[in-house]
Amino acid sequence: MPGFDAPLPTGHFIAGRTVTAPAEIDVISPSTGQRIGAIPRADAALVDEAVQAARAAREASNWGGIAPRERVRAMHAWADLIEAEAERLAYLEAICSSRPLAQAKTGDVMVTAEQIRFFAEFADKEGGDLVPTADSAFGFIADEPYGVIGAITPWNFPMSMAGWKLGPALAAGNAVVLKPSEMTPYSTLYMAELSVRAGIPAGLINIVLGDGPITGTAITGHPQIDKVSFTGSTRAGAAIMENIARTGIKPMTLELGGKSPMVVFADADLDLAAECLDRGIMPNAGQFCVAGSRILVEESIAGSLAERLAARFAKYRPEDTLAPEAGFSPIISAGQLQRIDGIVQAAVGQGAELLCGGAPFDREGSFYQPTLIANVTQDSPAVTQEIFGPVATFQTFKDEDEAMALAAHQTYGLAAGLFTRDLSRALRLTRRLEAGTVWVNRYGRTRDHILPTGGWKASGLGKDLGREAFLANRRTKSVLIDL
Ligand code: NAD
Repeated sequence: MPGFDAPLPTGHFIAGRTVTAPAEIDVISPSTGQRIGAIPRADAALVDEAVQAARAAREASNWGGIAPRERVRAMHAWADLIEAEAERLAYLEAICSSRPLAQAKTGDVMVTAEQIRFFAEFADKEGGDLVPTADSAFGFIADEPYGVIGAITPWNFPMSMAGWKLGPALAAGNAVVLKPSEMTPYSTLYMAELSVRAGIPAGLINIVLGDGPITGTAITGHPQIDKVSFTGSTRAGAAIMENIARTGIKPMTLELGGKSPMVVFADADLDLAAECLDRGIMPNAGQFCVAGSRILVEESIAGSLAERLAARFAKYRPEDTLAPEAGFSPIISAGQLQRIDGIVQAAVGQGAELLCGGAPFDREGSFYQPTLIANVTQDSPAVTQEIFGPVATFQTFKDEDEAMALAAHQTYGLAAGLFTRDLSRALRLTRRLEAGTVWVNRYGRTRDHILPTGGWKASGLGKDLGREAFLANRRTKSVLIDL
């Protein structure tokens, strides 16, 4: 297959060149458990080299100061190349991540190209503002790029997470130093290489490889990184806040974990609800931030909905991510597989009932069975912790108040789903749910890049996507001139 024979990259990508260094971190296929490559770990000196490259490239190319339409053009050319290289990008995505090849190609690669186009178009449409002042003064709000954005991304959708960071940062006139997850570095590296081939000045996108504690910490603590944009766990988000507080204050966007409820009332279209609940937890084997991992159902329909879900969940077949037909995704690592099983077994030990699943699949690699757990209490770790696997809890409620009490999570507020045919109830409860996104009679985002995404509570600070994400990559300066 095209694009499948070239060797996997082994170095950082700085100032438009591959920078090799001794390999320190193994990259493992979650489908087979086999080591497929290894990457270096950037230390503070290497991160500094990338930051200096970013600053120099911004200055030399005047990226933030050129006619904004030139940024738009260059970014569209980059998106064109991403689409043209879909085969190879999808392969680089699927070989080390949980993304099945077929979905990576039609979904991740194409969606990332779309996101880049979407953000590019803001470049020449947003600007500063004149402000009303007394006759003797002239005031305006200038709107400027930050300079260098330090971005850190997770492993669960490597390409599109990189697109969420790179698209708005570049469109807004910044340069970027990005660290992809050490588990899934390849597609991001290739995206960066394509940006240079498309005419985006070398050095505007720099990719440093490495882990969180060494490389990530060097990025978030670097004094010449002007803003940090992070997507990952709440635990790492808290460590980043601490590091930023310790090393000098800088703005940050944090997209963190979730434990989202999907609330189904008896008046809902049950076939639609079952389909959405399934789609709300099983893609990528539940390894997505807005996974609807807490299913809350009105008592009178609990039996019939549980049956429908168990039947749907039983149909998933695990498959190597490189298989031509998309199958059920692997869990990203053997350690994470164990953690998932530990939470499920602890729930069972506390009296929970398994409606289906409850064990790893008996095959090579790290695959966990689609699992539905009933009879859990609000304080069970299966309900409180982000499991990040194909595991949903199933709880029942009697009325709206009980539904909302169960839906409220002590820590997270990322997303929520409501299923009802009663429009008044939908609007009423949309207001009561503490979440950055609420879906009614559907679950999950598709290509609606215009809607900002981000969490309330410990699910994050600030937004990715939407106009908000573009604006979050610029800062304002108030100017008042005495006439
Ligand atoms: P993670 O927090 O372990 O790692 C994410 C990235 O942060 C990786 O690149 C990692 O190397 C780096 N990192 C880890 N510790 C760091 C530190 N102290 N300083 C700097 N960088 C550090 O998360 P993960 O396991 O890769 O991804 C899964 C998590 O991401 C889940 O919690 C999920 O909900 C979250 N996520 C959130 C969104 C969202 O939009 N809210 C989207 C996708 C994933």
